[in-house]
Amino acid sequence: MPPPSPRSDDALLSVEQARELLLQLPAPHLETRLVPLHEALQRVLGADVVAPFDVPAHDNAAMDGYALRGADLLEGAPARLRVAGRALAGHAFVGELPAQACVRIMTGAVMPPGCDTVVPQELCRESGGELHIPPGAVRAGDHVRRRGEDLAAGRPALHEGRVLHAADLGLAASLGIGELPLRRRLKVAFLSSGDELRSIGQPLDAGCIYDSNRHTLWAMLARLGCEPLDLGLVPDQPDLLEAALRRGCEQADVVISSGGVGVGDADHLGRTMARLGDVSFRQVALRPGRPLACGLLRCERGHTVLLGLPGNPVAVMVAFYVLVRELLLRFMGASPGALPTLRAVAAQALRKRPGRTEYQRATLRRLPDGRWEAASTGNQGSGVLHSMSQADGLLVLEHERGNVAAGEAVDFLPFDGLA
Ligand code: AMP
Ligand code: MG
Repeated sequence: MPPPSPRSDDALLSVEQARELLLQLPAPHLETRLVPLHEALQRVLGADVVAPFDVPAHDNAAMDGYALRGADLLEGAPARLRVAGRALAGHAFVGELPAQACVRIMTGAVMPPGCDTVVPQELCRESGGELHIPPGAVRAGDHVRRRGEDLAAGRPALHEGRVLHAADLGLAASLGIGELPLRRRLKVAFLSSGDELRSIGQPLDAGCIYDSNRHTLWAMLARLGCEPLDLGLVPDQPDLLEAALRRGCEQADVVISSGGVGVGDADHLGRTMARLGDVSFRQVALRPGRPLACGLLRCERGHTVLLGLPGNPVAVMVAFYVLVRELLLRFMGASPGALPTLRAVAAQALRKRPGRTEYQRATLRRLPDGRWEAASTGNQGSGVLHSMSQADGLLVLEHERGNVAAGEAVDFLPFDGLA
């Protein structure tokens, strides 16, 4: 019996509907295990990390100056206190502080017992072993970092689902924690399909092109913190495609293919996919990145989510950023929020048809008046990867929007952030 035809639904999905469709795909189970800090960057916490002690562990000075008892300050009159000793960061003042005395203290040093206030050195004067504090220089309780004010013992310092950044690693270290409970990396297999494609190092036969999608996919997956698995270049032959998809299903949590999901190809890829599982072919009101296949591949091990992206190099990247990235982050155990965008003005008029969301490649610059200006890189053909490389990010032209006039406000999605 021939395999069933792939399911397809002619209704054009909005980007929002496509995102929701993808988010219904079942998430793989990723185990949690302890991993050293330096392998934790960009990984996802599988459990809360609880502060084992108060941070800071002691009341300490927030300024260089003198630690004193707030009660020794006089309302409306100067105070005179004997300087009874010194406290440096890492070297606490030891002993009892006599009455009407203070301690020379440096930022970060533990507050001497009984002291609750620091007067900054520039607001007072020491001479002959005595400190003179002018009236009103400081109020009781000023310039002290309280024990536990950053984090109280037993409270979560980092929450499950957090994608770890530099500050999180520092925070764990500040708690004396050298290993973090991390989810296993999401293993994402990817392949390029097309008879015209060649790998680097192979001769380019007439009409052939080098495969770039496996390299952009590898980079986007690696940057997201996934474990990429290269399934290679697959010609437009059902048996070879089936073998590659089976391998992906056996070895990975998600399989991403590029190419062969356009209207002309869908049947070929579709029949192969239909033999292996339940995959539907959809059209998304997204430019570039319109065709999309999604569903489940089945194999002996269980099932794997399949995402079939278009072949055009820019469409692959845009579909990845707009649709796939969020899904993968959720699968990784994170809860991604909306991507932050900048408000910019369009440097030139842009053509845009209502009824689809368009992402246009653009460069960004700061205008003398402080506003951001986004300039199109020109040719927005979905095969022009060079313009993706030139661009600082993508102009987001919303579904209902029509042509954009020069100077009109637009959202800009930058490729790079600080994290
Ligand atoms: P397809 O989606 O297979 O119809 O491919 C659409 C266009 O993208 C065609 O011009 C392909 O040659 C090109 N293309 C497909 N896959 C790749 C790839 N991996 N690298 C570069 N170009 C590709
Ligand atoms: Mg093709």
